[in-house]
Amino acid sequence: MTDANPLDAAQWDDSIPASVDFYHHVNARWLEANPVPPEYPMWGAYIQLDHNNKELTRRLLEEAASAGDAGDAISRLVGNYYAAGMDEAAIAAVGAEPLRPFLDRIDAVASYADVRALALDLHRIGAGPLFGIGIEADFEDAEVYLAYVQQAGLGLPERGYYLNDDERSVALRGAYEAHVAAQLGNLGTGPDAAKTAAEAILAFERRLAEASLSPEQHRDPKLTLNRFEVAALDEEVPGLRLGAFLRDVGITSETVSVDNLAFLKVVDAALGDTSIETLRDVLRWHLVRVTASSLAPAFEDENFAFYGRILGGQQEQQPRWKRIVGAVSSDIGEAVAQLFVRVAFPPESKARVEELVDHLLHAMGRAIRGNDWMTEATRAEALTKLAGFTYKIGYPAEWRDYSTLELDRASYLGNRLKASAFEMRRQMGQLGKPMDKGEWAMPAHVVNAYYHPLRNEIVFPAGILQPPFFYADADDAVNYGGIGTVIGHEITHGFDDTGSRFDAVGALRDWWTEEDRTEFERRADVIVEQFNDYRVADDVNVNGKLTLGENIADLGGIAISLDALHEAIGDDAPAIDGLTPDQRFFLAYATMWRMGYTEAAARMLANVDTHSPSQYRVNGPLSNTPAFAAAFGAADGAPMALPADQQAKVW
Ligand SMILES: [Zn+2]
Repeated sequence: MTDANPLDAAQWDDSIPASVDFYHHVNARWLEANPVPPEYPMWGAYIQLDHNNKELTRRLLEEAASAGDAGDAISRLVGNYYAAGMDEAAIAAVGAEPLRPFLDRIDAVASYADVRALALDLHRIGAGPLFGIGIEADFEDAEVYLAYVQQAGLGLPERGYYLNDDERSVALRGAYEAHVAAQLGNLGTGPDAAKTAAEAILAFERRLAEASLSPEQHRDPKLTLNRFEVAALDEEVPGLRLGAFLRDVGITSETVSVDNLAFLKVVDAALGDTSIETLRDVLRWHLVRVTASSLAPAFEDENFAFYGRILGGQQEQQPRWKRIVGAVSSDIGEAVAQLFVRVAFPPESKARVEELVDHLLHAMGRAIRGNDWMTEATRAEALTKLAGFTYKIGYPAEWRDYSTLELDRASYLGNRLKASAFEMRRQMGQLGKPMDKGEWAMPAHVVNAYYHPLRNEIVFPAGILQPPFFYADADDAVNYGGIGTVIGHEITHGFDDTGSRFDAVGALRDWWTEEDRTEFERRADVIVEQFNDYRVADDVNVNGKLTLGENIADLGGIAISLDALHEAIGDDAPAIDGLTPDQRFFLAYATMWRMGYTEAAARMLANVDTHSPSQYRVNGPLSNTPAFAAAFGAADGAPMALPADQQAKVW
């Protein structure tokens, strides 16, 4: 398999016809030969790329660590972080001591006022126990920033884990309770007391879960974008005096958005009527949960045993270097990314991807102009929105300023807390300032991409602009089937069930006629129903509503990327290796999404992930794509060729 020809015919399994199950036709042999490694919950093409990026990042971090003070400021910053993180002996030797100042304060908590004061200090350093706070573009005016207050506080992935009464959920809660008790034990609580405390903590979290929105509800901007005067929140959440609390955290604006006020009221009530003893345990558990992966092995191993092994089905911890590369990328990602793009992103790649993005944007324009179900009024608004799209490719023009962040080699957890506090200050400092249009929401070396509805922009980090998504030397069909469909996917997010609620300047505004919205929803419902039928495990199906936005984006992304390919190479381009451009396009698409999951990971993702499992990201949209049926001779009504009257099509 060369770089220029990623299509490996030796892998394709003709005993599984392309017209029956294209995903397994292309990937079954690969999946068979590449089981999920013990250190992963899932394994496939993009995880392999992530692994490759991590190996390169490791080399850069090791170089930075050994350069020490001889390196430049960024090199010293990431070098110190990495060296402290890799010093397992030092981390083991200090045990829970790095948490001591907080633990001593928790021991001294005697009233709701004390809980509030301690929670406030934790929120100030970005480790708040009660809810999340983030700064983003204002949903009504993208020129300014707004603070978003979000429900949080659950140690399990989402509300259903606390409320479902099936056997598996009950057993999982039992394992979680034992895990909470084990971590409290690691902090020094005796076994009986830890068991009692864990029960009370679970009951406390269950109240928060009952008041939480489900992941599916949380996707709905009409539910979650709610503007409040900061001052009015004192009365709305009186025990906590939420307005004053937010002021003290550093929110200087007059208004904030609150995703779920009812949740905050329940937090307030729970803090008011729970015993001080239990509140101390709730705080201890919160503190150990958010720091366990940076503490001594007893904490880290127990954390892995529950979150990695039981929830994720992962058999072994990843090697230490990989965990630290992951942590540094999430804590000070833009510092690492600077080193990464110097060696891993040639300017020619950027030029070629820019060309692809332009072609994809034009194809989306044709899809909007050419569809047969929109009235002219909505169509004009959609085209205005598309014209307002901006894009970023590779890495930021200007890097984040880390000059006020100092890290040393003395304490890994100390560094992580400093980085978290720095990030909190950075975000709070944005309030009242003009929008930084150059800002990136993820570091440049990650394997990911995004559409940002509040900024109406699409962003493609250098980390994803590599095989199997993008091949510098491959023919167009392969790259349009790969990165082209990813670009098309992100563009389509601007017009999916949530993206379509925002306009060209990123404001939440209804630009749809009622008639067109009804037709959009009718078309979207076809996708919901199709995906609801897809099986994840014997008793779990895909959640069609939770995954709707991603499924609309996959289907639209494929359609517009295929159209862009035809625009780029014409309709009569020659076959290569006996494969037509359309065949190469679909084969590249299916290859890119191959992915094996542990059963536990597949189950968890079905509850929380807005993306469908890989096999349905391939077979779902392609069975709705007539060009696929034509390319592989799938007869009408074959599993991969839905009859025309059952096909979904939004864009
Ligand atoms: Zn997406």
